Amino acid sequence: MRFQILSIIFSGVLCVILESFLLQFCHINRLDFTYLKRRSRCEKCNHTLQFLDLIPIISFIFLKGKCRYCNENIPFIHFAGELVAWLPVILLYNHLLGMNSNLFLAFYLLLLTAALYDIQTFSIPLHFLLIMYIVIIVLSEHIFINQIGLIILLHLLFFFSKSSIGYGDIAVFSLFVLVTPYQFFFLLFCITFIVAGVFSLFIMYIWRKKIFKIPLVPYIFLSFLFVSVFYPFLVRYFYL
Ligand SMILES: [Zn+2]
Repeated sequence: MRFQILSIIFSGVLCVILESFLLQFCHINRLDFTYLKRRSRCEKCNHTLQFLDLIPIISFIFLKGKCRYCNENIPFIHFAGELVAWLPVILLYNHLLGMNSNLFLAFYLLLLTAALYDIQTFSIPLHFLLIMYIVIIVLSEHIFINQIGLIILLHLLFFFSKSSIGYGDIAVFSLFVLVTPYQFFFLLFCITFIVAGVFSLFIMYIWRKKIFKIPLVPYIFLSFLFVSVFYPFLVRYFYL
């Protein structure tokens, strides 16, 4: 029991460190191999960060959300991402998932990073999408080539929706088509738009103004979490 608790804590800390790295990695402007060798820097003043500045969560609280060199605010979204990065460990240890653990963990951390970036910029960087495709395809046990028709349909949707859905969102949906059964993708796709629709209506009601653009990846992330946890139940309930 004690060993299990220690192992949960250790895995949780690893996830938080990994998420902290992914958030930094997502924000770089140019991808080259020197990035992997050089020390982390402040996004605002470019000052090299010391070991104490790099401890996720704790450094944010200790520095009151500001860079110690330029006093600029560190985006709160980084702190929020690190705070929820340990959650998948609890789900994994309680065997609450409808997909293999490595794939779930990779999807969780990569989608969480992309969702937080999408909230800030309404986009996903190309280098991050590329890394996401490589990691997920390497970790998946099966590539569903027979579902390629669904990817073509998604691209037609992008073409005919006249940019009301971003290409980054289509790329993320296409990745799910490649590595999960069509039932999983179907549930993910429907629940994403239901949650996004309900949430937008709620926001419009509270703010009393129209919303013309919403970041979709945060809803894909929430839908992914919901479908992964309740997959067996959802498949049985909807006769999929
Ligand atoms: Zn700084």
